[in-house]
Amino acid sequence: MSICPKCNKPVFFAERKTSMGKDWHLSCFRCEKCNKTLEAGKYFEHGGKPYCEKPCYSALFGPEGFRYGSIDCYKH
Ligand SMILES: [Zn+2]
Ligand SMILES: [Zn+2]
Repeated sequence: MSICPKCNKPVFFAERKTSMGKDWHLSCFRCEKCNKTLEAGKYFEHGGKPYCEKPCYSALFGPEGFRYGSIDCYKH
């Protein structure tokens, strides 16, 4: 049985979501920063953890490379 990398509990088949080569609980596969639920293929990985495409990944790791044109709305 797989262990969820987020909560370290067993993952049963019915609630399993396989991403980044690991099995997660459906409800555990969320953005590491803002806890937003992530859809398949719509996330970025950093350090083995998933992040939403924006604002989190852009803001944290891609100030230059991940500029989508409207990043100004995330400035404080
Ligand atoms: Zn979990
Ligand atoms: Zn996020």
